[in-house]
Amino acid sequence: MSDWLHGVRVPPMNILTLRGLAEAIRQHSTLKAEEPFPVLRFLEWSMLKILKDFDWEIVTSLPDGDEARAYPDGAPHYTKGPLIELLPHVYDDAANNKGRPRLTILHECGHALLHRHVAVHHRGPKGAELKTFENSEWQANQFAAELLMPVASFDAPGDLEAYVQAMGVSREAACNRALQLMRSLNKPRPSWPLEVYASYAKKARKDAASVLHGPTGIH
Ligand SMILES: [Zn+2]
Repeated sequence: MSDWLHGVRVPPMNILTLRGLAEAIRQHSTLKAEEPFPVLRFLEWSMLKILKDFDWEIVTSLPDGDEARAYPDGAPHYTKGPLIELLPHVYDDAANNKGRPRLTILHECGHALLHRHVAVHHRGPKGAELKTFENSEWQANQFAAELLMPVASFDAPGDLEAYVQAMGVSREAACNRALQLMRSLNKPRPSWPLEVYASYAKKARKDAASVLHGPTGIH
């Protein structure tokens, strides 16, 4: 899952560490900055080379409405090593170059790689109470974003539709990443409608709508 509010506390990892890891993986695959990350090849081949005993499987259902899950230290039916479970449509849609499931798969790979044998404090503070860099969900999301949208891919990003097609990412993820790099690295603002697609703007519209219409419920 990728909801920050459900993140648990893990050892801190800053953005430069995650970026360095992602850049090393991209370089190992001899990918240029403007080339899309081969998500399924990474899941099916590279992960096993990096993580001994890694496995992944497609399952027909997952609890809690999840579309994908990672078990960094194994699951009851696969105790040997890290495991990722995906619903069928997540794999199929990633194979069809849809942005969101591609990010979902790399997010789960991030958990499997980053959160092995770490003391996961399920009883500690969660989500919003955590510092960003110690939130398991932020770390997995950031790892996925660094792999899919390297910093240098924003040197000449072109228009939004071309970028999302070329890199295999969603409009929302691309706009979030553009904002992050504008803020943190002073990257120039691309001529994209950030206020339409970025998560902050979507959330603001949702909040405004709920103020206007009041809470929804059973009447
Ligand atoms: Zn997650």
